[in-house]
Amino acid sequence: MKTNIPKIGFVSLGCPKAGSDAERILTQLRAEGYEISNSYEQSDLVVVNTCGFIDSAVEESLEAIGEAMDKNGKVIVTGCLGAKKGVVESAHPNVLAVTGPHALEEVMAAVHKNSPKPHDPYTDLVPPQGVRLTPQHYAYLKISEGCNHRCSFCIIPSMRGNLVSRPIGDVLNEAENLVNAGVSEILVISQDTSAYGVDMKFRKGFWNGRPVRTHMTELSQALSELGIWIRLHYVYPYPHVDDVIPLMAEGLILPYLDVPFQHATPRILKSMKRPASSENNLSRIKAWREICPEITIRSTFIAGFPGETEDDFKELLDFLEDAQLDRVGCFAYSAVDGAKANDLPDQVPEEIKKERLSRFMEVQERISSAKLERKIGTMQTVLVDELTTDSNDNIIAIARSKADAPEIDGVVYVQDAEGLTPGDFVDVNILDVNGHDLVGGPPTAA
Ligand code: SF4
Repeated sequence: MKTNIPKIGFVSLGCPKAGSDAERILTQLRAEGYEISNSYEQSDLVVVNTCGFIDSAVEESLEAIGEAMDKNGKVIVTGCLGAKKGVVESAHPNVLAVTGPHALEEVMAAVHKNSPKPHDPYTDLVPPQGVRLTPQHYAYLKISEGCNHRCSFCIIPSMRGNLVSRPIGDVLNEAENLVNAGVSEILVISQDTSAYGVDMKFRKGFWNGRPVRTHMTELSQALSELGIWIRLHYVYPYPHVDDVIPLMAEGLILPYLDVPFQHATPRILKSMKRPASSENNLSRIKAWREICPEITIRSTFIAGFPGETEDDFKELLDFLEDAQLDRVGCFAYSAVDGAKANDLPDQVPEEIKKERLSRFMEVQERISSAKLERKIGTMQTVLVDELTTDSNDNIIAIARSKADAPEIDGVVYVQDAEGLTPGDFVDVNILDVNGHDLVGGPPTAA
């Protein structure tokens, strides 16, 4: 049985560059299984590819949009005229979406939104939410690829190139599909989440017919409307990060920040060429906690970076004591083929690196354990990941609180877990600490 395939009308005006944009959009539409129609009346919607070069071209484009609106009524406008702020919208306020030229992904996002291709299990190789490697109830949402920084210990930019952000409409549509497929927690990932949209000059995209800027704060705000847990990873401490903390305080996104600080002394941070290295991270952390006392801060550090003196290292330990971070990973510096840091002078001997790593972990273990101890007696909402049994065959749920990201943080072992299933949210009373994990129970409805 064949399902109804949406038909898309297409009108293309303008120069060869506009023609080539049209070809890419038409190719993508066909590749996704849409039919192309040459009748306004029989199309589910119409894409008008415009020109805005001279006055007569503007007029011709506005007329073409008007004709498509009259004869069909569902119109997506793309091309050069779309880049002229407000021109299309003021002449034709009811168009579905407007994009500039060279905007294949944004046009496709608008098409998907307004005329979704029905999923056909007989012919589609993948479900609408894509193929996932994670359990049914949580998913990673990648918002960009590559990185504009050049940290001296890292070779990612040479492998993956500069930052390329995904259009916000696509990202939000993917998030919506995940929620529709039963996902209860989305983990936002990238190489540098704070930089989302920099490469696009934070341009406006569309989601559910409304404009949304390609920016971390607006992305977080929009994701919060999905009503599930939203967790942000790889956030560099730029000043605009302060704007997402109130969303955490209001319970709109999880009060959890994964901020890879890597070191604490300005000299080493500079030698690492770290983004936001001149920020006063201690006062930022203090300010975040004032706005959202519940916030969990996770970070990673490198001990024994080339040039790190004993004094630098002690400053790093002092930073740990002052910052009181909740979750911390640390690595002894090791050379990566092709990284600039390999050529830095004053490489630290292996045994000193190892000794510093263990001193670092000793300090942080004490801090993290004390923070976990303080949770005993509190009520925590947890998300059940899986079920297991203890040595007496009692059913135990392995769950995570708002403070625990999958794979990298601890878990909450929930006693008396009969009847629970993965993906359930429940409230538990925290009874004990077990290493990096907590023990809680009995579960009550969240
Ligand atoms: S470590 Fe630095 S260069 Fe490497 S991906 Fe992260 S921010 Fe970019």
